[in-house]
Amino acid sequence: MNIYNVHLIRNVQIITNIKMIIKPHLNTEQLKKDFFWMEKSINFAKRAELIGEVPIGSVLVYRDNMVASGWNEAISQKDPSAHAEIVSIRNGAKYFENYRLKEDVTMYVTVFPCIMCIGAIFHARIRRLVYGAENYKNSSSIFFENLKGKNNNMFGRNRIDICGGILSDNCSAILKNFFKKRRKVSNLKTVDTV
Ligand SMILES: [Zn+2]
Repeated sequence: MNIYNVHLIRNVQIITNIKMIIKPHLNTEQLKKDFFWMEKSINFAKRAELIGEVPIGSVLVYRDNMVASGWNEAISQKDPSAHAEIVSIRNGAKYFENYRLKEDVTMYVTVFPCIMCIGAIFHARIRRLVYGAENYKNSSSIFFENLKGKNNNMFGRNRIDICGGILSDNCSAILKNFFKKRRKVSNLKTVDTV
């Protein structure tokens, strides 16, 4: 067992109490909205790419209106917590002038959130999360897999409904292309220095 797996198991134990319900889409109207807002999130992911950040984007939607957006800014802001989800939560909190967002806010994000962002989503009281691509390198995906169908209680009475796979091919293609380009650049640099 390598170090990575050890970390995964530890994370699973920490998070096993999150109360989470994975729901299928209830109706085509909602599905249409989810596609629409995920496209917006993809546009914000592209903004991240333009400034050399890992292309992940997020929007917060309240009563069919976008109230906040965010994209990865960790490198440019020199802030390890400046993930797209955290940035959009901060902007959403400013919009509502409250550290807790409204319960019927939906977060859209192009990739399944990391552990830090999942924690922030719960603390912000966001009730619904819609994501694009899975991220199996991100351990939070794995512990959520383990949680399917279980009701737990780590965050008290808070709960979150999660829908995934919206425009997942587009969302993951942006990431794959980004890392492909980055590898190419680093290979070129290696050749230059040889
Ligand atoms: Zn994150």
